[in-house]
Amino acid sequence: MEIQRLIPLPAVFKITTSLFKTLQEVIEKEFPTIYRILLVSDPGGAKEYGERLRKLPCVYYTMFIKGGTIEDVMEVEKVIRDEHIDVAIGVGGGRILDTVKLATSRTFIPSILVPTALSHDGIISPVAVIDFGDEIRSTRAIAPYGAVVDINIISRAPRRLNLAGCGDLISNISALEDWKLASKIKGERIDYFAYLLSKQGARSILYSEHVPFSAGFLEDLAEGLAASGISMIISGNSRPASGAEHLISHALDRILKVAHPHGIQVGIATLFTQRLRGQSVKRIKEFYKKIGFPLSPMEIDISKETFMEAVRLAPTTRRDRFTILDIKNKPYDWEKAFEVYLE
Ligand SMILES: [Zn+2]
Repeated sequence: MEIQRLIPLPAVFKITTSLFKTLQEVIEKEFPTIYRILLVSDPGGAKEYGERLRKLPCVYYTMFIKGGTIEDVMEVEKVIRDEHIDVAIGVGGGRILDTVKLATSRTFIPSILVPTALSHDGIISPVAVIDFGDEIRSTRAIAPYGAVVDINIISRAPRRLNLAGCGDLISNISALEDWKLASKIKGERIDYFAYLLSKQGARSILYSEHVPFSAGFLEDLAEGLAASGISMIISGNSRPASGAEHLISHALDRILKVAHPHGIQVGIATLFTQRLRGQSVKRIKEFYKKIGFPLSPMEIDISKETFMEAVRLAPTTRRDRFTILDIKNKPYDWEKAFEVYLE
């Protein structure tokens, strides 16, 4: 019999405006005897930051790769093994961070992630989205040892990406409703601490008093995404942050030639799934208007027909996830929800 459960959690989460100094402090404090650090950054948008950080005295080896594929993961793994790397730092967007997350998981070394945009809740999470050639899969990984978020860097990221982070966080509201439903109907266990963190993550921006995308707001967004990521570590799956709205987005990824950022799609789908449940979306819509988030699929050039096709396909993208779409499964229900959603 256990008297408590043990869950390995990330140790460091820093929000800063001076990345170089903060990262140096984190490394000195957390890894005082380590001298082989790998820095992985992309040759595009994040290169400028990668070039600056490679001057850190502790950085032993630097790689500039696009990231995101299993070949990239293997390339990073090879360097970790050949160069006897102790810690890896990833600087960039989701592709780089997920590549470093999976490569360090497979070689059992810690990673520190430095995002250049706040586009989703995968910064601190046990999941890496990787292209395996035949398909893009969400793969289980060890969560990073920590993350350092530089608000100056984030504020320079394309607005669309930081908007996507808001959508991914707000979608927790829908995901948690599905979790409650699965608990009621299927007896699925709700992990209260995971539930609480996911909910607070969404609330951190929904009730933020800061001007949208000001430094204070981005700090709230970073904290919310971190809380959401930790909720998934605690529950051991993506349940607290992924419900019917995520399934609709997965279906859109399959249907659309060029998909929109994940967080934008799930944020739009959240309005629909909440309406399907008969819930008010007044508060969420007010928030979306305030931050300039699209209010309907049509605003991002997704027709009603395409969206409805995604709703129909959604449950097939993940059959083990019970959601509102398993109950309200008739086109009639969807049409009705779509009508009120646009009101
Ligand atoms: Zn998500």
